[in-house]
Amino acid sequence: MERRNFIKKNITGLAGIAVLPKIYYSSKSNFFPTGEKQMLIGTPVIPVYLYEKGIPEALREMQEIGRINTVMTFSHTFQFRQYRKNFGPMTDAAGKEITDVFVKTNPAYYQRKEWQGKKPDARYADRDILDELSEAAKPRGMNVYARILEPYVITGAIPGFEDFAEINTGGEAGKNVCFNHPGYIGYWHSVVEDLIRSHPHLNGFKFGQERGGPIMGSLGGEKATCFCKHCLALAKKRDINASIAREGMKALQQFGTGVMKNGEVPRDGFFVSFFRIISQYPDLLSWEKLWMDSREEQRKRMYKQIKAINPLVEVGWHIDHGLTWDLITRTFNDYSTMGSYSDWLSIAVYFDSIGRRSRNHYEKFYQKLLFGDASPQYSYPMYLSMLGLDPEKEPVLEEHQKKDTPFSSEYVYNECLRAVKAVNKTAKIYARPGFDMPGYNCNISYQQVYDAVTRALEAGVDGLWCGREWNEIKPENAKAFGDAVRNYK
Ligand SMILES: [Zn+2]
Repeated sequence: MERRNFIKKNITGLAGIAVLPKIYYSSKSNFFPTGEKQMLIGTPVIPVYLYEKGIPEALREMQEIGRINTVMTFSHTFQFRQYRKNFGPMTDAAGKEITDVFVKTNPAYYQRKEWQGKKPDARYADRDILDELSEAAKPRGMNVYARILEPYVITGAIPGFEDFAEINTGGEAGKNVCFNHPGYIGYWHSVVEDLIRSHPHLNGFKFGQERGGPIMGSLGGEKATCFCKHCLALAKKRDINASIAREGMKALQQFGTGVMKNGEVPRDGFFVSFFRIISQYPDLLSWEKLWMDSREEQRKRMYKQIKAINPLVEVGWHIDHGLTWDLITRTFNDYSTMGSYSDWLSIAVYFDSIGRRSRNHYEKFYQKLLFGDASPQYSYPMYLSMLGLDPEKEPVLEEHQKKDTPFSSEYVYNECLRAVKAVNKTAKIYARPGFDMPGYNCNISYQQVYDAVTRALEAGVDGLWCGREWNEIKPENAKAFGDAVRNYK
């Protein structure tokens, strides 16, 4: 079908069913048996997998095995460069470059034409994954969501990002872009405008920002950000003393480096020393809040822009693991305040990788630093308790240290319940139980997946995303996910 006809057909279709809550779209399909709970049951999947597997076959597999009614894929993948050597592009088996932009772009929507980010010779650069996915998904009664993870590290892949760099406590350009730089704001305005206007058939959109704030960065030995003129102007409006905040962040950096790199033992204890720095430089707390609020402002701008273009697009946010396993980061991220600019929140509950990930985090920041006054025998259960988990129901630290060990389904339940209670129906909560993640040897069983999914549903979530990525999941565990969904009453 020609793209123009396809879009026209879908605009007509969209208008015809606009009166129905979108969550019920999939009930039009005969695939889902009468009586099965019609909530969002989705899966994230990378575009290359869809192309390699074949979109119709991938969708058939998702529906039949995992009971999936919503598929979500990346429109842009610049963020993956952050994790590659020399920030290189993805390549195929023959070494050919794969595109970072999986949708067709319209130059009319870009403040700078080069922000379209297309390399015509790159593989898949001539295709549009969202159009192709929608064409195959709609007849199956499936919805299509797009997603983007913020490529916040300056890799050289997106022109101009060097000019939008954060400024650190030393007055130097940092490695990341600043949320408040007008150029960076303009970049996202362009990308979102094109994505939403050029894909009127899109059912949903998710954006993720996987970066941590200045306090934890300082404790980890980095120079805190952002002291650029745009952030300084915002700080002034809030009556924050930037000089005190800057000196405070430097003191935290010195404290963290002294303990973790040089083995220093503070005379008055670890916790008191940390809190003393805060008492001496109270504006550092306001600086953390300003940075965190700047991240929320990015979400608010996107929400407003998307809703103005197409109010039917369900807009949600990726709540990544880092927002859940750290106590200080949690302090500054309150789900209960997000409802006014969120249709839904995707809560990462990767019960396999959380074992090693949170252990590393605990060992670095809590065992050695913030809870350094106590032995791990006491501080690890304390850490879990403060995260709202029951140390009696989770593996002990030694187990995590011996081998990759998953958290229990109670972790999934507690994390989901925390979000459900906090948003209090001002947004939907879609849990994302992740399992079978590459690089983690947890050997997750059918029963573990079944239990995790069931407990997420028992916590009252409004929907589920299956796994971190569909393409990572073992077939028997995808089936466990689907069976838990089908059997849940
Ligand atoms: Zn800034």
